[in-house]
Amino acid sequence: MLLAIAPSMHKVFTLFSTVLLSFPFLWAGKATAGPHGEYIELGKLAGCCGGTASYEEGGRVGHLCGGNLDLRCRHNSACYCINGVNIYGQHPVSGGPDQLKISGLDWRRVIAPLLSPPVIPPLRCVCIDPGHGGSDPGSQMQRHGLVEKQLTLDVARRLRTLLEAKNIRVVLTREEDNFIALANRPSIANRSGCDLLLSIHFNAADGSGAEGVETYILPSQGTASTARLQNLSAKDREFFPNNRHDGKNLHLGYCLQRELGTLQLSKDRGLRRGRFLILENANCAAALVECGFLTGASEGQRIGNPQHRQAIAQALCRGICVYGNCR
Ligand SMILES: [Zn+2]
Repeated sequence: MLLAIAPSMHKVFTLFSTVLLSFPFLWAGKATAGPHGEYIELGKLAGCCGGTASYEEGGRVGHLCGGNLDLRCRHNSACYCINGVNIYGQHPVSGGPDQLKISGLDWRRVIAPLLSPPVIPPLRCVCIDPGHGGSDPGSQMQRHGLVEKQLTLDVARRLRTLLEAKNIRVVLTREEDNFIALANRPSIANRSGCDLLLSIHFNAADGSGAEGVETYILPSQGTASTARLQNLSAKDREFFPNNRHDGKNLHLGYCLQRELGTLQLSKDRGLRRGRFLILENANCAAALVECGFLTGASEGQRIGNPQHRQAIAQALCRGICVYGNCR
């Protein structure tokens, strides 16, 4: 359910995607070779589905509207804005002004799956991982007295209270300020039979002035982390236990990033792919959220405010509940 849409709209949405996914000849007849496999021009894609394509900013920004899909893309960028949420694919948009082309692989692995999300059984148990702890403080912002390991535990406790109020069992990978090895964290979720693992973090970037929220899910087999797009490593070619949940991960990541993006003044830095140890070995849907930059001038101050951390926990709870149909 991309987007908590009404059932009637969901049918339109599903029809839109089914047309594109069920008639490969439509795709094959309109695709052309590009720098990373097959590409299809935005206008032809719109023609396949009865939607419309338009261009802005001198033809460098494309806009596809069809069914309940609203997709924006930018020349030379792998970041798509899908129904208002930024999501990174693997291959930058190519083509010339007013003739942008989208990678067929990105369509099939990122955009189309969001249009036909998997059926998620009701959530029974959620594992929350407060990042860092003990001898590992994580990021710090001395000036504001912010220490990541304390903030992640605070948000995890708030989120636990919210989820338990919805009758969902919650397991924390750590209850106090103690060190838990990264490799042991997914094991805790696996042993507890959890349906979902969420690792909570805060970001830092010295001197860049960066602010905003990010969500990470594991790259599917044969694809790279967002930070290393198109440069496949040996690990990228491996299949990890969490890759059995690629479809659920994408849907979970989308739901979380959409809700984090509603936090006041928070910039949407997008749903990304990251090869984090805690994600690789989780036997359930899993995501890692970066809930803002401690080093951001105003964002750091907001994170230091308990009311903002409660808003973060509420956003995460909404994202989990939309994903898991437990509103
Ligand atoms: Zn961290």
